[in-house]
Amino acid sequence: MQYRPLGKTGLQVSALAMGCMRLPQHDPELAAQVVDAAIAAGVNYFETTRGYINGRCQHLTAPGLKGRSRGLIVSGKTGVGEDTTADNYFAEIELQLEILGVDYLEFYQVGWFGWDRVPMLTKKGGALEALDKARSQGLIGHIGFTGHDSPENFTKVIETGIFESMTIPYSMLNRAYAPTIARAGELGVGVVAMCPVAGGMLASPSPQLQALIPGGAHTTAAAALQFVLANHAVSCACSGMNTLEMLAENVATVNAFAGASADDHARMDGILDEFRTLGARFCTACGYCMTCQHGVDIPGNFGLYNNARVYGLAGWAKGQYAGMATEKRADACTQCGECEPKCPNTLPIRAQLEAVARELGGG
Ligand code: SF4
Ligand code: SF4
Repeated sequence: MQYRPLGKTGLQVSALAMGCMRLPQHDPELAAQVVDAAIAAGVNYFETTRGYINGRCQHLTAPGLKGRSRGLIVSGKTGVGEDTTADNYFAEIELQLEILGVDYLEFYQVGWFGWDRVPMLTKKGGALEALDKARSQGLIGHIGFTGHDSPENFTKVIETGIFESMTIPYSMLNRAYAPTIARAGELGVGVVAMCPVAGGMLASPSPQLQALIPGGAHTTAAAALQFVLANHAVSCACSGMNTLEMLAENVATVNAFAGASADDHARMDGILDEFRTLGARFCTACGYCMTCQHGVDIPGNFGLYNNARVYGLAGWAKGQYAGMATEKRADACTQCGECEPKCPNTLPIRAQLEAVARELGGG
């Protein structure tokens, strides 16, 4: 297993981290095996939260940890709101320790965080006092945050100096936080990249995306993980894994990755930029053509089509198209033409919907 510095914490984190929110809800024995096998494979970061998996996430994680929080980077997570106090936040930290069956969490994440929540965290008698108290009592080691605020706002958050890591989405298909990740690298803030396979979208085969990786990747999921790790400011790729096979595949992918130079990464970014530009020449999802009185989801269909044409994710797009409500699908278009004058990109919507129906629906 490859290890990387987790910001300025002095910790070395495994390049592959486990997001425990995908552990199998109805198979606790398998969940314990997956966590145990991950530790055996060298994975040392486990992200947990009390609410995930219908409140089962930490219960499912605990047996695999077997109380082994020392030497591992196990994180808990709680959000902050207007009514959060130091007392109720501290009680939540204690509760998560208890459920996980450990006496220490290396990281505690302020979840669902954003710039507008900084005052709620830092107010007198607020959650930051609870985190400081937990740290001084040796219950937690470090403080991080996770969330989905804008890249600009997250850059402001890391510049407050409160946090030692951030957990944000980053993948081949979502590079919006790349500037924030670069700033984190400058500041020495650890970066845990979540959703590296774009919510499973990159589990579908795409020869174009596999070819991006130096030397080529053997699967698109492998390309997805390796792309994230090619960014030198990323500390680890956090993947939700629920089977031993998925774990073994991801461990093998990370172990096989020889790394990429800064030039390699810039080249990959450049090609992905070209893909995105190509996608924008088709439908930009502005929505001006909606609503179609016959119920066709015009931007939804074109979004699938773009991912098939631009990123080569045809298998994924066909699966999504098959799962759409029939009235929303391209083949429900009556060719009335009412939408076309509304499109600022002057797209031939009717002809393109026919192409979607043909290529994704086989119609
Ligand atoms: S042409 Fe098709 S998509 Fe456009 S408004 Fe008519 S039925 Fe809807
Ligand atoms: S108006 Fe044109 S670009 Fe905008 S969503 Fe509709 S088809 Fe796409």
